[in-house]
Formats: sequence, structure tokens, C-alpha cells
Amino acid sequence: MTSKKVAVIGAGVMGLATAYYLSKSGYEVTVLESEKDIGGMAVSFDFDGIDIERFYHFHCTSDYDYFEMLEELGLSDKLHWKSTSMGFWFNNKLQPWGNPIALLKFRGLGLIAKFRYGLHAFSSVKRNKYDDLDKMESTSWIKKWVGKEAWDKLWSNLFSLKFYEYSDKLSAAWIWSRIRRIGRSRYNLFKEKLGYLEGGSKPLIMGMADTIINNKGHIYSNSLVKKVLKNSNGTYSLDIDLTKSIAYSKDSPVLSDTNFDFVVSTIPLPYIPSIFNFINKEAHEKFAKTINIGVVCIIVKLSKALTNNFWLNTNDPDMDIPGIIEYSNLNPCNGEHIVYVPYYMPTTTSIYNDSDDIYKAKIKNYFKKINPELQDSDFKNIVISRYKCAQPICGPEYLKTIPQIKIDGENVFIADTSYYYPEDRGVSEGIKIAKTIKGLIDAEAK
Ligand SMILES: Cc1cc2nc3c(=O)[nH]c(=O)nc-3n(C[C@H](O)[C@H](O)[C@H](O)COP(=O)(O)OP(=O)(O)OC[C@H]3O[C@@H](n4cnc5c(N)ncnc54)[C@H](O)[C@@H]3O)c2cc1C
Repeated sequence: MTSKKVAVIGAGVMGLATAYYLSKSGYEVTVLESEKDIGGMAVSFDFDGIDIERFYHFHCTSDYDYFEMLEELGLSDKLHWKSTSMGFWFNNKLQPWGNPIALLKFRGLGLIAKFRYGLHAFSSVKRNKYDDLDKMESTSWIKKWVGKEAWDKLWSNLFSLKFYEYSDKLSAAWIWSRIRRIGRSRYNLFKEKLGYLEGGSKPLIMGMADTIINNKGHIYSNSLVKKVLKNSNGTYSLDIDLTKSIAYSKDSPVLSDTNFDFVVSTIPLPYIPSIFNFINKEAHEKFAKTINIGVVCIIVKLSKALTNNFWLNTNDPDMDIPGIIEYSNLNPCNGEHIVYVPYYMPTTTSIYNDSDDIYKAKIKNYFKKINPELQDSDFKNIVISRYKCAQPICGPEYLKTIPQIKIDGENVFIADTSYYYPEDRGVSEGIKIAKTIKGLIDAEAK
């Protein structure tokens, strides 16, 4: 057991999981979160009487660290699996998608293009090694496999409407790992298998938070960390905006100046340079070069289903979206029809700041085009959620471009969702990195 004090910045999944593991080993943890509610990207809100996440979360059969955490928290029986279906809105038609028969029957694509697309998907799912993909740029890798027709019709839109000017700067390994994760989560070749947690991510977030509190840790929300300062005795102190600070537990003292032996940051890397002035120049410069894009996520409550698919890819010149997630076709959501439309984009894109009304009007038109039975009166409510650092941009050989989690010469540990590379962001990956951070701190605390 140790009595070392650790500050954890950020109460998303990774911050909470790090504090969870540390507090179980006797560290004195203090978690600091800038937003009012804890959970980060996995936070929930009250959507007219149902608790719903601001961003949808589904799980795949490879989410092992997530399953382990659910087991520890006694939540495994809340995880349910379902056979989900995919569709493709293409040439003004809703077509089945996501399995070999759908590909074969797909209208609007030549036979050779179908074959090449299928072969690429199949080989990506079967592949384990990614050393060569790590060095490659993703669009040239895909084009080489699938050819021009399949690229133009099936892939191009997904890239340009998600990554904008970064579309041709991404690592092939990073894109491949997404294809593999989804492609392997199946009952069989024809049936996709996805999981959801009853109540969304909330029981996980609250379960970790309650364990931290039970282990004498503290969590403060509405507590933005402005600076981390290094003291002459080697400890660290934090400059925190405390004006509206809220303690998660009524037993936690009012937050005041404290010295910490270790500092863990789980906030997006682009924020690091302004908060950690003292870290070495090389690390500082590497963090300053990292890029994140934002998301404007539209959450729609309908009185009837849009389609019967969970995923719906779209390639329609009249729609500025690459796809739609009809979440209630996975998680029953108390009988409500819930649909998410994520607009990923650099926050410098002009439409990022478009008003909520503009987004609402666009989405209504798109939905009514896809399902002409939908009337205005079927849109029961629409909520819009924005997140500035929603998705890191990971280029070829990404891990060489960022510092190691433990900052040289400091008891400071920094990671965000980009450290999952080549995996994409995911709750399970956040829990995995939290375990790594705990191991690194243990090694220093000895
Ligand atoms: C649209 C969308 C859909 C997704 N779908 C899935 C899915 O289906 N399945 C899945 O597994 N994953 C999914 N994810 C990814 C998943 O949500 C993330 O991987 C995970 O929640 C990230 O957790 P984190 O703690 O690393 O980061 P975050 O959740 O970003 O947490 C960082 C926290 O730090 C706080 N913070 C920032 N600056 C400061 C500061 N200065 N002081 C104090 N606090 C600060 C932030 O407010 C935030 O709470 C999705 C994400 C998005 C955006």
C-alpha cells in the first residue's frame, strides 16, 4: 500500500478508470473535471425523461478490457448482444449492406468493383500484423485494393465528410483497425454482433466513480485545471478554476491547494502545451503539433423508426453526412426511436458554428428523404451536442510523433485517445491505457 497523492485531470472513461485502479491500490487520488458532469465523451443527459448518452456507444466482441471492468463492477449482466443490420442510402434507394450477399446484390456497382471491395474487407478482417500499414497513407492503400469505382462510390464520401483536409494524411493501420474491429464482431459471415450496456455508459461511469469515493478518493467537477506547476521539492501543484467547483461526494473536503506526487492527464493532447509549461522542449513541441477534429452530434427522438438498420451509410450529393446511427435498433431505449447523426469536422470548418436550427432543418429533410413516411410531427425532439476534441488525427507512424506516456524526468503521465493507436477511440481502449498508466506509476512509487 502507498500513501502517494495523485492528481488525475479529466473525468472521462480514461481518467476515471486510472483513478479507479490507483485508488484500489491505496493511492490518494483526486480527479478534476472541467465540465459539470463526469463522463467526458461518455456522459449522459436527460432527453425528455430518458437517460441517454450525448454520443452513442456500442461494443464489439474484442472489447476485453471493458468486459473485465464490467465484471469488477458487477455490471456484466447489463451487457446485451444483438444481431444488427447495416444499410446504404445510395442512388436514392435504401439498400442492404454489410454482408457478402448484400454486396453481391448491391445496385449501382460493377461486378469487379464489388469483388475488389469484398476482397479488401475480407483481407483486412483476417489480417493481424500492421507494421507495413503503419507506414502507409490510408486512401492510397484502399484505392490500390478496391480500384477507382469502389473508392468513388463507397469510400470517398466517408473520408471527405469525416476528415476533411486530413483525408489523405491518415495512417492505413489506423483505418484498418476500425474495419477489423467491426468486421470481427459477428455471429457469422452474414450476421453482425454488437453489444450495448443497459442504461448506456452511465452505470460504468458511476460504478467507477463510486469505487473511487469508497476508496477515499475525491472527484471534483466544474473544476478546470488551468496550469500544472512544479514545486522545488519535486511535487506538483495545480492552478484550478474553483469558482463553481462541485464535489462528487459530500464527504470530500472543499478543494484547495494540495501538492501531488504524481500527475496524470487524460485530456486531449492539443490542450497540453498551455497547461504543462515545464515539461521538456521536445515533448512540448510534439504535443503542440497534435491535431484533433470536433463533432456536432445531432440526437433525434422520432415517433417511428427511420429504418430497421443500426448503421446507415449515405452517399447522396444532397446530404453532407457520411452516415447515420439508428441507436434504438441496437439498444431498445425504453421503446423510444433514437437516431444519432455525427458531423465530424475540424472546428475551423465554417459549418461547425452553424446554428442548431440549421442542423435541425437539414436532418429533418434528410430523414424525410430516406423515409418518406416521416412527417414533421414525427420529430419529437432534437438535441445537438458539440465536442471540440472528439477525434485525434493519426498519420502514418503516429506513435513516433508523440511522447511516451511518462514524460522524461517528471512524475507526469500524459495520454489521450490517440494513444490507442492503431485502434480508434473506444471505451475499452481507455480502460486498457488506464491500466498501463497505473503500472507506470507503480514502477515510480516503489
Ligand atoms: C460521436 C462519438 C461516438 C463514439 N462511439 C463509441 C462507441 O460506439 N464505442 C466506444 O467504445 N467508444 C466510442 N466513442 C469513443 C469513446 O467515447 C472515447 O474513446 C472515450 O469516452 C474517451 O474517454 P477519455 O477519458 O479518454 O476522453 P474524454 O471523454 O474526452 O475525457 C476527457 C475529459 O477531460 C476533461 N477536460 C478537458 N480539459 C480539462 C481541463 N483543463 N481540466 C479538467 N478537465 C478537463 C473533459 O471535459 C473530459 O471530460 C465515441 C466517441 C464519439 C465522440
